[in-house]
Amino acid sequence: MTNETNSGYDMNDTLSWYSQVVREPILRREIKPIKDFPILQTAYAQLHDFDVLRTLGLFPRNAVERSILDKISWQKPLWFSKASIETGVPTQTRDLKEAISNTAIIPGHTGYYLDKDGKLRASIDLYQLESWIAPLVRRAVNTEALAHEFAHTILAPALYREQKLRLPNGGVVDAHDFLMDLGAEAEQLTPVSHYAGAYRAGDGKYLVHEGDKTISISEEFAETIAQMVLPFALHNRKCLSREQNLASRSEIVAGLESFLNAQEIS
Ligand SMILES: [Zn+2]
Repeated sequence: MTNETNSGYDMNDTLSWYSQVVREPILRREIKPIKDFPILQTAYAQLHDFDVLRTLGLFPRNAVERSILDKISWQKPLWFSKASIETGVPTQTRDLKEAISNTAIIPGHTGYYLDKDGKLRASIDLYQLESWIAPLVRRAVNTEALAHEFAHTILAPALYREQKLRLPNGGVVDAHDFLMDLGAEAEQLTPVSHYAGAYRAGDGKYLVHEGDKTISISEEFAETIAQMVLPFALHNRKCLSREQNLASRSEIVAGLESFLNAQEIS
């Protein structure tokens, strides 16, 4: 994607999309969070802890158990810089002057590190959104960012570490091979969301970073999983409803459903 106004990095269209489709971004049904994750509430927080934990509670139990998330923190606003478009590598800035635009918002980010036993762990940063964005739209963006980043904390050990999974049908798979094969199937379809489109080339194929498609597949699947668990439609090229968007990629959804509900075999 080289066109700035169409760039998947820019949320301009996404913000107006959410203002049209979102009425209540978080399911009303009570879901007890399965596990507590420390949330560092700061002056920049835009969701209550309860809403954060309830969003994580939308994920299947086995997926929550496999998440490598340690903590969630709230930070000052952050944007994609113009360099993201020039280099094709997403780059951040806190300086609005260097941003692609004031709507090239980065709503969330997952950082990875190794713990003292050498195990891969993660922390999620959620970024404050500027007050000119309507409260309900801000809430939708925050919630989507959280679901997207939480999906990364479940995908990462599968994509970047050895992980064996027992699927709900009893089959045992290498998680990396399973996701890469599913990713190749998803490449034949349009990106699940406007943002996922930032990781596709003009011919619709995944962008390749240093000979590797893993980042692009990880983004496509973080967005697909967010679309599966959240009750509202993510902004997508075809302006499909949530149900139409999922139905248009039913095999991918079925594969990710199996992945999320799988049990790790040690
Ligand atoms: Zn992501």
